[in-house]
Amino acid sequence: MGTWHTHPQRIPEPSKIDWDDWHQTLKEDRTGCSYAFFIIAGTHEARVWVGDYITMEISEIFECQKVKGIYKRVLDNSLEGYDNNKKN
Ligand SMILES: [Zn+2]
Repeated sequence: MGTWHTHPQRIPEPSKIDWDDWHQTLKEDRTGCSYAFFIIAGTHEARVWVGDYITMEISEIFECQKVKGIYKRVLDNSLEGYDNNKKN
């Protein structure tokens, strides 16, 4: 679930109207989904954000790097720190 639209920009930048619309979408959940995807296609690149209906946070998401046709896992140092803290 989500919304998409286009911008006449090479790399699209969300406008204040976009941010307001996305936050409104999260407030008015009628989907029963956990997340909503917000896509803006520019003239050369598209960008994607995901909104969390529980936390109401909206974050940009990225495609993982592909090596020889296989997506490479991205390690997040902050998550490693979180795991170490849990063991103590
Ligand atoms: Zn827009």
